[in-house]
Amino acid sequence: TGPLVVVGGGLAGAKAVEAARAAGFGGEVVLVGAEPHLPYERPPLSKDYLMGKAPFEDAVVHDEGWYAAHQVDLRRGVTVTALDLERHEVRIGAESLRYERLLLATGAVPRRLAMADSSGAPVAYLRSVDDSDRLRAALRPEARIVVVGGGWIGLEVAAAARNAGAQVTVVEPLELPLLRVLGPEVARIFAALHRSQGVDLRLATSMEGVAAAGAGAAVRLGDGSTLEADLVVVGIGVVPDTALASEAGLEVDNGIVVDEHLRTSHPDVFAAGDVASAWHPLLRQRVRVEHWDNAVEQGTAAGRNLAGESVAYDRMPYFFTDQYDLGMEYVGHVGAQGYDAVVVRGEPSAGSDPFTAFWLREGRVLAGMQANDWDATDAIRALVGRSVDVPSLQDTSVPLSEL
Ligand code: FAD
Repeated sequence: TGPLVVVGGGLAGAKAVEAARAAGFGGEVVLVGAEPHLPYERPPLSKDYLMGKAPFEDAVVHDEGWYAAHQVDLRRGVTVTALDLERHEVRIGAESLRYERLLLATGAVPRRLAMADSSGAPVAYLRSVDDSDRLRAALRPEARIVVVGGGWIGLEVAAAARNAGAQVTVVEPLELPLLRVLGPEVARIFAALHRSQGVDLRLATSMEGVAAAGAGAAVRLGDGSTLEADLVVVGIGVVPDTALASEAGLEVDNGIVVDEHLRTSHPDVFAAGDVASAWHPLLRQRVRVEHWDNAVEQGTAAGRNLAGESVAYDRMPYFFTDQYDLGMEYVGHVGAQGYDAVVVRGEPSAGSDPFTAFWLREGRVLAGMQANDWDATDAIRALVGRSVDVPSLQDTSVPLSEL
């Protein structure tokens, strides 16, 4: 049977073709990616790779030979321009490619900041390896870098820029960086970490305007101050790349809507990774997760389903970050309803002290994280979704594994 076509040569797409072959699919497999590079992992682009500490080869999912050895027709630098559900075809310019089953793994693109884009000032976004190369060239000692957005990307860029000796200011409209994901109790720890590393955090401050100023930029803030910058880095989130899906008439609602088998509103078309808004059978809601682990695991599950299996995707969301000497892992999903209690175990100061944190609602653990306490991850994973005795959770003499 076949052919299988995967649109999007990112992590989810590469994992899907790998899983389809591993599941024994013997037909034709085509992987179409708009970027000129081999499929690669993005986390290093704001960490080791950005800091010049790791080569691009470390980030590729498979080397070129793998695709040939597994008879995957990898088409790089090629954009799928249309999808015809009736005819089971995707279009690449004038060429049509027939599929029996299709995966959309088109990922996400950075949300743009119009006032910066139209300013004529030097502005950078970070999504691709090319973006990371350009950004690295600008992270020089004493360079003045203004980062717009105190989310994961913004903070990781801030850390890399400090590592390069640049002067860094982060502008964030909310009272704390990462406030929406972590809540004030833990977001405060990240704020202290960045301040201790010399980052100028401008919090609860809106962006009023960006103007070109000589070779650089002048960034005007709501509090009346103006920041001079050699480069403005915008990290204000991403938008799922749903254009193909919506033009083809697939159901789209903050991402391509898929069921727990990652199947879209058309039975022969699947979606996975940053672009997929998937029904989660344990969380009992649709979630769209913009993280590495989700691209790996959903890509893998989708690949198996393309090959004819019927895998339900019920993995808890997971992500990690590295900033300065702090590494963290987070498992779970707080969701729109929010939490009613936070338990922080350990006494994090601004440095790299280990701690764990848990977000609860009515005594049930919605999510947990560890910072520099790598042995705790399995215990955290085991606790997520469970009701716990809160006093015992607060008591650090009780090991997590005994809760
Ligand atoms: P993408 O990686 O976006 O890949 C989609 C690909 O599809 C792109 O190459 C795109 O060009 C291509 N494409 C789109 N449309 C078409 C088309 N019509 N035709 C052909 N090709 C098309 N997650 C973590 O958990 N931890 C981290 O520390 C972390 N760090 C990150 C750092 C950076 C700088 C970035 C950008 C992301 C980071 N992430 C991290 C998030 C993680 O990288 C993403 O969740 C992951 O890349 C999603 O993979 P994907 O395959 O779904 O989409």
